[in-house]
Amino acid sequence: MKFNTKTIHGGQEPDKAYGAVMPPIYQTSTYAQTTPGGHKGYEYSRTHNPTRTALEKSFASIENGNYGLAFGSGLAAIDAIMKLLQPGDEVISTSDLYGGTYRLFTKIFEGFGIKFHFIGMQNAANIESYVNENTKLIWVETPTNPMMNIIDIEASSAVAKKHNIMLAVDNTFATPYLQRPLDLGADIVMHSATKYIGGHSDLVMGALVVKDKKLADKLYFIQNASGAICGPMDSFLALRGIKTLHVRMQRHCENGKAVAEYLAQHPAVENVYWPGFESHPNHEIAKKQMDDFGGMISFTTKGNDYEKSIKIVENLKVFVLAESLGGVESLAGHPASMTHASIPKSAREKTGVVDSLIRLSVGIEDIDDLIADLAQAIAT
Ligand SMILES: *Cc1c(COP(=O)(O)O)cnc(C)c1O
Repeated sequence: MKFNTKTIHGGQEPDKAYGAVMPPIYQTSTYAQTTPGGHKGYEYSRTHNPTRTALEKSFASIENGNYGLAFGSGLAAIDAIMKLLQPGDEVISTSDLYGGTYRLFTKIFEGFGIKFHFIGMQNAANIESYVNENTKLIWVETPTNPMMNIIDIEASSAVAKKHNIMLAVDNTFATPYLQRPLDLGADIVMHSATKYIGGHSDLVMGALVVKDKKLADKLYFIQNASGAICGPMDSFLALRGIKTLHVRMQRHCENGKAVAEYLAQHPAVENVYWPGFESHPNHEIAKKQMDDFGGMISFTTKGNDYEKSIKIVENLKVFVLAESLGGVESLAGHPASMTHASIPKSAREKTGVVDSLIRLSVGIEDIDDLIADLAQAIAT
């Protein structure tokens, strides 16, 4: 099956009871047994739920893995990965990573004796220089947020394989429509399914997909033992979202390209960060590992004025000023005052998050309305 068929049929079969084409929402915590232990594969919904099973099979199918796991949020999925580790273990992570992941690593898992190295990963040789006998996990997020840097997954995997280290990739921004990390050598692919996978800004969810049975069994154990699962209603919504992932992503990419090109020629715009431009420092890697360039764009305006950027995002009428990304509607954010406000100015500016930086999640509305909206907001 090819990708555009897997999003609709991957891992799915009509419901066994009545042939329902859509998986029913099994809104139940428990399951009747005929005799102790005599059940139909389901005992208690923290462990398994048929709606969640359908979703987990869909996750595995679209990411070209063998086993999928659904969690109550993206961070709950990352938390489960970290519980594979022991005190004394070391993790090499990209320095340019989702703020919530950084908080989980430093505020929770550092306290449990795990050591993190936050480094630039654009060059795989740099990753290798941090490897020692305690290194157990390499954490890659690509494209990164909000600077849209690209990390070479295959090159990272070569380092991981050479030293027998696990490689996990946060594939939230790209989605399997654009990039399939397991095919490039990753051991675990992770998603905030809250974003493009769900696609309609109506749920919070996380996903993991792996190929290896032993690793899957460990993660299923953690999923059940720690219990950060998602409910059947959200599982249904995520499945429904996945069915249109390919058509949504196609339009996100088309609109993203048009918006990036519009901004690049705008006289008031200074820099546009989008991996589809040949001038993007990691464009060649993006071309190699991604099928297209997505709808996430960041840009700065000339003069780098904090107040002016706040005015621009306030004046947008079609783009909604909000955190998050990946929904059908276009969203805009101002990292310096929103997602990155807690980072000291000098530290955030070092990574490129300057005062005028605006991040766009380009939705699937009519492109003429999106460009007209940006034009009027930048003009005021
Ligand atoms: C949102 C996000 C997360 C966290 O996911 P939640 O569903 O909000 O817990 C992790 N990584 C990336 C890249 C994200 O955008």
